[in-house]
Amino acid sequence: MSNWFEIEKLPQDVYAICEPHDSEDVKSFLIIGSERALLFDTGMGRENIKDEVEKLWQGELVVVNSHSHFDHVGDNWRFPVVYGAPGENADLVAREGSERLKIKPYSREIVSDSYVFDLGNRRLEVIYTPGHSNDCIMLHDLDYKVLFVGDSYYNGPLFVQMDDPQFGRSSLEGYWISMEKVLKRCDDIDYVYSSHNEIMVNKEKLTELRNALYEIRRGTAIGKEVSGTTYNYYGDPQPLLKYQFDDFYVIVDAASMEVRNRARLALREGGYTCYIIKGHEIYTSHHRGVKPLLDWLDAGTDLRGGIAADKVIGKAAAFLYVLLGVSYVYAGVISKPALGVFEKYDILCEYEILVDAIQNRTKDGFCPMERTVWNIETPDGVPALLKDALKNLVEEAKYRERLKSMPICQIEDARAAFSSELEMGDGELDLEKLRRQMELLDAEKQRRGYKLNASKTVI
Ligand SMILES: [Zn+2]
Repeated sequence: MSNWFEIEKLPQDVYAICEPHDSEDVKSFLIIGSERALLFDTGMGRENIKDEVEKLWQGELVVVNSHSHFDHVGDNWRFPVVYGAPGENADLVAREGSERLKIKPYSREIVSDSYVFDLGNRRLEVIYTPGHSNDCIMLHDLDYKVLFVGDSYYNGPLFVQMDDPQFGRSSLEGYWISMEKVLKRCDDIDYVYSSHNEIMVNKEKLTELRNALYEIRRGTAIGKEVSGTTYNYYGDPQPLLKYQFDDFYVIVDAASMEVRNRARLALREGGYTCYIIKGHEIYTSHHRGVKPLLDWLDAGTDLRGGIAADKVIGKAAAFLYVLLGVSYVYAGVISKPALGVFEKYDILCEYEILVDAIQNRTKDGFCPMERTVWNIETPDGVPALLKDALKNLVEEAKYRERLKSMPICQIEDARAAFSSELEMGDGELDLEKLRRQMELLDAEKQRRGYKLNASKTVI
């Protein structure tokens, strides 16, 4: 038997199984209950962790992963089944393993958020905490008030820069939301155990991390560029930013941060309505509404993976951004349906103001573009719908202009004619258009101070 593992006994029948001879310095945890034990992660897979566990516990054992990164799943294959959160990356690692990182395939079961593992005298609740990767969970020992945080917090570099089939996608926004969620339990947590470096960390660190992530998101924390190779386990080294805080630092993808900040700044200070960065290309507009997005779509402009900042985003614009394939959107104002579209299509979105619906330009009704797609579920037919709606708006504007110089008797005549057409209403007529024209006639009458005959306008 090797000396690869070092066992550290913690209070209340918890053992940290440490691998200090590798620079990862990873810990797996054996949590022993009166009826069964739970092994949280299986380490690097360099030596046999199952043998180590059996020295400490011979009864029933449940194995759970904090997430599916190589340093936590290395010995998964030695166990009949391992529980973890959903994630395409986790599925891939379980199914195919990884030659590069010496992970063998294993059998995996999904565990749901707030599922409780009952060990007899202690219950461990699963908390989904995507951020570091999209399949991160924490375990909350409800009876002994211990939080096992996995890689979501430890003293050292916290990685939020990943976007890789094997490692999953990090999310700064998601990380912050996860920390908010966990902090609601603060009163029920006495100890925080992390999976790298010092095991026991002060629980205040979770609040500090939440605040740090918030500042980074807002662009109020200053990051320093660091060499891509230092913190990369995969692919081409990318420029990274390091944000230093007390005892920990946060590593994010410099390109995306810098580009996001640049796009936000351009929106705030450059007077743009829309600003998209794709690689070295920049696409901008000073026009309001969805027109520029439709134009880029029509021109076949490749904005896939682009970073977009937009002053006002309703559901119509959101659908167009989905079709354009951008990966991140920052909005000055966004409507709830628009945010729903981004969530559905997995586009990371940050915003300043969230509203129920976008208003029209005269602020006396809903935005006609958002109204057009209000009940639409998928983006496919949206451009055609919006083009029609835009055409109608232009025609209406012209019509309204003409009405202004029309004598009132002509307006009355036109209205009467439309009204009787509408009453006769055969299938050939565009009734919706007629109604709308009558509305415009009424609006013009009102503008001139005439009273409306309500019974005839409401059909
Ligand atoms: Zn990790």
